[in-house]
Amino acid sequence: MDLTYKKKNFYEEANKGEIKKCFEFAEGYKDFINSAKTEREACEIIVEMAKKEGFKEYKFGDKILPHEKRYFVNRGKSVVLFRVNEKLENGLRILGAHIDSPRIDLKSNPMYEDNGFCFLKTQYYGGIKKYQWTTVPLSLHGVVVRRDGTSVKVSIGESENEPVFYINDLLPHLGQAQMTKTGDKIISGEQLNLVFGGMSSDDKDVKEKIKQNVLKILNEKYNITEEDFLSAELSAVPAMKARDVGLDRAFIAGYGHDDRSCAYPAVKALFEASDNSMAILVDKEEIGSEGTTGMKCKVYEDLLEEICKNFKANTRLVRANSKCLSADVESCYDPNFSDVFEPRNSAIISHGVAISKFSGTRGKSSGSDASAELVGIVRKIFSDNNITWQTADLGKVDGGGGGTIAKYVASLNIDTLDVGVPVISMHAPYELISKADLYSAYLAFKAFVCE
Ligand code: MN
Ligand code: MN
Repeated sequence: MDLTYKKKNFYEEANKGEIKKCFEFAEGYKDFINSAKTEREACEIIVEMAKKEGFKEYKFGDKILPHEKRYFVNRGKSVVLFRVNEKLENGLRILGAHIDSPRIDLKSNPMYEDNGFCFLKTQYYGGIKKYQWTTVPLSLHGVVVRRDGTSVKVSIGESENEPVFYINDLLPHLGQAQMTKTGDKIISGEQLNLVFGGMSSDDKDVKEKIKQNVLKILNEKYNITEEDFLSAELSAVPAMKARDVGLDRAFIAGYGHDDRSCAYPAVKALFEASDNSMAILVDKEEIGSEGTTGMKCKVYEDLLEEICKNFKANTRLVRANSKCLSADVESCYDPNFSDVFEPRNSAIISHGVAISKFSGTRGKSSGSDASAELVGIVRKIFSDNNITWQTADLGKVDGGGGGTIAKYVASLNIDTLDVGVPVISMHAPYELISKADLYSAYLAFKAFVCE
């Protein structure tokens, strides 16, 4: 009798049929991340997907019938899918993922002209290595609210015949001083300026002719002026499409695997879920879950209260009996950077969806630490359903740290455990995951909400 524990490689264990299903799932996922590049776009696409599955919109005050599939949209940036019945007090099964990803946001007054260029000033969103975001094709997404209160959606640079935008880096020939700097200073925040144009307008009386020409194009296309940038939300994101990686196509490179590689499987799992299940797709995780669309906002608690009120259920009892998987990506062991990982306790690529009992930095500070009992319950569900899964800690104990929405859900008296897809090059413009882990996440989430 073998008493030892060993992780399993999905690709080694799975039969041909399972691998086929895994690869098919990846195709749907690639389509999703190619069009869901911001939280607004992800929210819109998830609503479209939900409608096709028979979900109807819920607004505060609406009546909910048992077994009904409903979705709730919060300010166009976060969305909650749910289906409940009278047995609500036995608790909900909740999947919580985030649909925002690190990116380069525009400043409020971004446009200026300098020596042949028109640039846009930016401020980055989320924890990025700034130098990685230079010299890659970037597209511009978001919304502009005009002075008269009307608004216009913007998306430039996704289709092949549209232009992209660009952040310059220094040529190595003159990079001697730059290359002696530490990583966070190789490119400074104020150097993340977006190349936006370079042709002069023929207006004789205008001083900044390139800027004038760009403004003319914007005005023709979107009916906006420079002042309208003051009330806009525009983000530059990588314009690259998701691609298979490796001769055997085992992996996917793409923008925003953090955390859309968990959001997509969570949504797909919820479509097949039993009653009393919920998927919360939130915004602002990358900047600390703040604001009216982040997990810290009371809106999610309000929604739960309204649902309870509808079924005359005791909301305290519902929360106490509910369980949540905080579906967020995990750091993946990278053999090229083995010194920062502790291999026995790191997620290994293609070894399945990863459970993280705890997060935080140093002494688990500011993290979430799930109970052995909860891990036990989830472990049993995964094992009973033949899920390929593993445990994962972020890295070496004193190497750094991080957190997810888990602690905010847990603070509502809901037992919460971090479970997600291991990611290589997390927060880079083009991240890497394994199709095996993506598919395992879907199967794991499905098992959790179908129980
Ligand atoms: Mn994340
Ligand atoms: Mn992140």
